[in-house]
Amino acid sequence: MKKRLSFSSLKAFSECEAEAVAVMRGEWDRQATFPPSTIEAMNAGSYVHKYFESEEALNEFKKEHASDMFTKKGTLKSQFQIAEKIVKALDKDPLFKAIYQGSKELEIFGKIQGIEFHGFVDCLNLERNIFIDIKTVRGSIKDREWLESEHRRVHWIEARKYLWQMAIYQELLRQSDDEKRGKKISPVIYAVTKETFPDSAGITVPQDWLDDSLVTVCEAIDKYIEVLNGRMPNRCERCNYCKATKRNLSTISYSDLI
Ligand SMILES: [Zn+2]
Repeated sequence: MKKRLSFSSLKAFSECEAEAVAVMRGEWDRQATFPPSTIEAMNAGSYVHKYFESEEALNEFKKEHASDMFTKKGTLKSQFQIAEKIVKALDKDPLFKAIYQGSKELEIFGKIQGIEFHGFVDCLNLERNIFIDIKTVRGSIKDREWLESEHRRVHWIEARKYLWQMAIYQELLRQSDDEKRGKKISPVIYAVTKETFPDSAGITVPQDWLDDSLVTVCEAIDKYIEVLNGRMPNRCERCNYCKATKRNLSTISYSDLI
């Protein structure tokens, strides 16, 4: 098991410990379980990031993904057509253009609860004391998504644990040796939608919500440390890994399903 964590590996661990541990041990390929449409959407998301990183980064991406981006007829695949629309929407968004300035795709490191973390900040704008993370959203900026663990619908920022990500990145930036970076820098989640007419908004988060999120992150890391120290990882019994490795040995009661 690897000891260094990222936001996404901690999120995966909190969703299903057993699956995350199997991925870390190289026993389970989670990416291989994704449908082609999900992979295409993920690549299209990367395209948007590369576009605003630099021309070189975009050209490199285009070279690497030429076969993923186009259909056999030579037209852009649907998710990349959407990505093109998103790029155009952000390109004419005056707030985005004004604040998305500074270091792009910056790798950051640090320790939380004694565990090494790393991450990539989309854009660090030290002049404004902010860091920006672009999030592409399928529905509207106000959409809510079902959160299985809480059996309720919550805003997509909460459902995807993006406040954890912002709290982790803020903490890693705070730990930086760089004098300018070594203070609390505020995140801006720059949401842009895949709707027919893409919508966009720069979303800030109250600092006390970030502080609360960091506390929750530390609790999640504590569970990870327990597993590092030998506790058996819990199975969620919902994900593909749990289904693929399930061994029925007894019946279950219908009353437990409703
Ligand atoms: Zn599971």
